[in-house]
Amino acid sequence: MYGLVEIFESLQGEGRNTGRPCVFVRFAGCNLACPWCDTDVSRRFELSLDDLVKEVRGYRPRSVVLTGGEPTIQDGMPELVLALKESGFWIAVETNGTNDVSWLAFVDYVACSPKAEFSDSLRLSHADEVRVVASSEGIANFCRDVRGRIDATDYYVSPCDRDGEIDFATAKAVLAELDGWSLSVQLHKIMGFR
Ligand code: SF4
Repeated sequence: MYGLVEIFESLQGEGRNTGRPCVFVRFAGCNLACPWCDTDVSRRFELSLDDLVKEVRGYRPRSVVLTGGEPTIQDGMPELVLALKESGFWIAVETNGTNDVSWLAFVDYVACSPKAEFSDSLRLSHADEVRVVASSEGIANFCRDVRGRIDATDYYVSPCDRDGEIDFATAKAVLAELDGWSLSVQLHKIMGFR
């Protein structure tokens, strides 16, 4: 059984796939505790593999984002990825990068959001995109460190959202110190969609 918080359809709000219609599967639980975390990761319901795939297939998009929480700490993910692939889905995973699990090689897109407070726990060495939250101006040093540790196509800085206040100023200051990084806004928060 998979522990879940919610399943819903929306547009991807961040990174290179911004604007792509997707089904979001938010798994319960996380192995980190970021101080600014605004994600409710408490388990609300469970679904079997068959019921989860059936639920995802019930939405219109043929793209699915496996997110959390932290999806890589769930059991049964290789089976889920295989079943979604057999159903024709494009699959993206959003991870904090602390588990370099083998099934990530079988998804279409990996977005890694490493956390400076837990940099010793970072294990992932490849991703399609990296997104770092600009929680302080000093985060630029962490971004440089991450760039040396994770091979990715795109590197993004995201503004920190503290209780609904989106801190663009710090993100701008961080980007001014970096080469090859761009801003990824959380479009869903700015535009007011889920
Ligand atoms: S990794 Fe993500 S879900 Fe987990 S505590 Fe940090 S912000 Fe929250």
